[in-house]
Amino acid sequence: MKSDSILKHKPLLIAGPCSAETEEQVINTAQQLKESGIQLFRAGIWKPRTRPNNFEGIGEIGLKWLQQVKRETGLKVTTEVANKQHVEAALKHDIDVLWIGARTTVNPFSVQEIADALKGIDIPVMVKNPINPDLNLWTGAVERIQKAGIREIGLIHRGFASYGESFYRNKPQWNIPIQIKSTFPDMPMICDVSHICGRRDILQDVAQKAMNLDYDGLMTEVHERPDEAWSDAAQQITPFTYRRMIQEIEWYQNPDEMLTQEGLSDIRSKIDRLDDQLLKALEKRMKLVDEIGHFKKANHIPILQSARWNEIMERSLEKAKKNGLASTFVTKFLEIIHEESIDRQQRILRGENEE
Ligand code: PEP
Ligand code: MN
Repeated sequence: MKSDSILKHKPLLIAGPCSAETEEQVINTAQQLKESGIQLFRAGIWKPRTRPNNFEGIGEIGLKWLQQVKRETGLKVTTEVANKQHVEAALKHDIDVLWIGARTTVNPFSVQEIADALKGIDIPVMVKNPINPDLNLWTGAVERIQKAGIREIGLIHRGFASYGESFYRNKPQWNIPIQIKSTFPDMPMICDVSHICGRRDILQDVAQKAMNLDYDGLMTEVHERPDEAWSDAAQQITPFTYRRMIQEIEWYQNPDEMLTQEGLSDIRSKIDRLDDQLLKALEKRMKLVDEIGHFKKANHIPILQSARWNEIMERSLEKAKKNGLASTFVTKFLEIIHEESIDRQQRILRGENEE
């Protein structure tokens, strides 16, 4: 069985140049990366570029260089595929793992074409998030690949595009990968720090954030001479810098194994009890809200009294400040409660709760 369970390695370290440029660049970079203990060597062969006249990838000859990497270093190799021809060429050249890029995930026709080309083939596939923050497109792409019979699928979080200058090249929007993980809990989540950051100085920080969120691996663009790279020069780092980054990251233990430890399960059951109390308190609060709703209806008083709402906010924010709770959090929390309270009273006013 080819490459089975490579994606299960934790942490899964994927690194290599944005693009394969020359045989020498590919082999040199791979040899240096092998010393950092990576499992999977990446290189783009066909490059989806936003504008024409940029370097659009070296094409099939690059697949031969990846085969050479396998022979000379023993590393497994991965490349991006965007259509049927790419899949066929990659399979012909024994590429171990395929990935679907952000510009392909957005397009269900392309994803389906790839899925059809993969039917009956046993190869791990990683699916990057789409360029726009659309959870369903990402989920749908994964489902198409699953339906083709691919058993080993990984998710790559590479951030989301937005218009105008921003701190990140692609904003992480961490809540989206967290949400897709709840649909596919057994799929590894890999953070492509390079395309999130778009620059070198914040790579390590973003990599650490991903590890703090229990990601399963990192994809990083590494080039033997990053400043001369034919694509994405600003975000690529040398194998030396990569190795230092990997050494400095704090890697965590597997939380599933830690769960059996008493300290953690004690705290967790305390949290469960508090969550129960929070829910009970919300239930009681909503009952009082209903009572007031009936009173307002009987006395022809409008539902919203902004003076009262401001008073609730001020009082709670003052308390929050003293108790070390972030005011943004408390504001959001109260706003949701207020919205639900108004909805319930609207229903009472319309007589919907009164049979
Ligand atoms: C890449 O990994 O080189 C790439 C093109 O990434 P993305 O699809 O995330 O833009
Ligand atoms: Mn790139």
